[in-house]
Amino acid sequence: MSKSIVYYTNARATKWDYKYSLNARLEAIIKRLDFSQHMAPDDYVAVKMHFGSEGAYRIVRPVFVRKIVDGVKAVGAKPFVTDTTRIQGWDYLEIANQNGINPQSMGAPVILADGLFGYDGLMVDAGPVLGQVFVASAIHDTPAMVVVSHCKGHIQAGYGGAIKNIAMGGVSSRNRHGGWKQARGHLHAASESTITRDKDKCVLCMQCLHVCPLEAITYDEAANELVWDDDTCWRCMRCARVCPEEAIAVGRTRQEFQAGLAEAAGAVLRTFEPGKVLYFNFVTEVQPECDCMPVADTPLVQDQGILASTDIVAVEQATLDLINGAVPLPDSLAADKGLKPGARVLADSLDVDGQEHVDAAAALGLGSKEYELILVTEGD
Ligand code: SF4
Ligand code: SF4
Repeated sequence: MSKSIVYYTNARATKWDYKYSLNARLEAIIKRLDFSQHMAPDDYVAVKMHFGSEGAYRIVRPVFVRKIVDGVKAVGAKPFVTDTTRIQGWDYLEIANQNGINPQSMGAPVILADGLFGYDGLMVDAGPVLGQVFVASAIHDTPAMVVVSHCKGHIQAGYGGAIKNIAMGGVSSRNRHGGWKQARGHLHAASESTITRDKDKCVLCMQCLHVCPLEAITYDEAANELVWDDDTCWRCMRCARVCPEEAIAVGRTRQEFQAGLAEAAGAVLRTFEPGKVLYFNFVTEVQPECDCMPVADTPLVQDQGILASTDIVAVEQATLDLINGAVPLPDSLAADKGLKPGARVLADSLDVDGQEHVDAAAALGLGSKEYELILVTEGD
């Protein structure tokens, strides 16, 4: 089987000359990928990223996203920077603005792919776990996409990179007629009955209440217990991920969840012609959890650099290999876990192996786990 090409540039800077900066080397990778082979002049092009949260500031830095936007514009295409709603739409655009992602900094429109209220999606076949999902309309309808991913850990998925970026992040937040069903919450929860909350285990630490993006959890002082509004809840499962007592059960098994991520990514990619999607993985500030959480912990490993490819599985495999093979950093979750050099940093820090959803994506035929790294050591 032939190997997929993955361009890679290390985060170290070895000389005091701009062409050795990560910025210049990103420009060099953009040139090597030759955007004109993957988008036509006048094509609308989604630049898909995660806008972060009020407290999770470790997103892909705006200066890098801008370079990708400029690369798209150099072809004559029409880029827009986008994500789906993670909290209420107006607030999420303001978070993007605070994190440095706005039309002025990007030189392009910044929009919500599933609309201001998270309802805009078109139904696409996914696979045996999910059935069908609503792909966010601005992603569904656009002919080309550049997936810009901040690669880090994730309590439930083990790893969050390009697959998770377009799976969770490419599906609309809501279904106008069915709440969370076939929308993002469908990746977490199969049915009402699979969500359980055990009041006996709850120690009222209130972390679930603080991470809920919809204020669907409230504290009943008289009863001294939490109250859940199931009609408002969109099954993001942030509450389950942070609960230290495992009082909230995640709706799907780990295997279903990992397979569902690959299925949703496949559903999103099926809305594009072959060769119209490019991937840039930023292995910088590799924190243990998703950029949607209200905090960003210290990185598990030192910055590793940038990887880019036209093959989503190859770029993910190369990224996972890089992170899991790196030296765990002191003053991090990896150190708390007592990890030493040689440990698989992400998998052993989180006790969940993101390799599972990369394997599932490969099994669905989304790409190849065999890759050839091409080192880019300097800019032009
Ligand atoms: S799953 Fe939990 S955190 Fe997410 S909306 Fe529902 S109650 Fe809130
Ligand atoms: S996070 Fe868990 S233990 Fe803490 S208040 Fe919520 S349900 Fe209770």
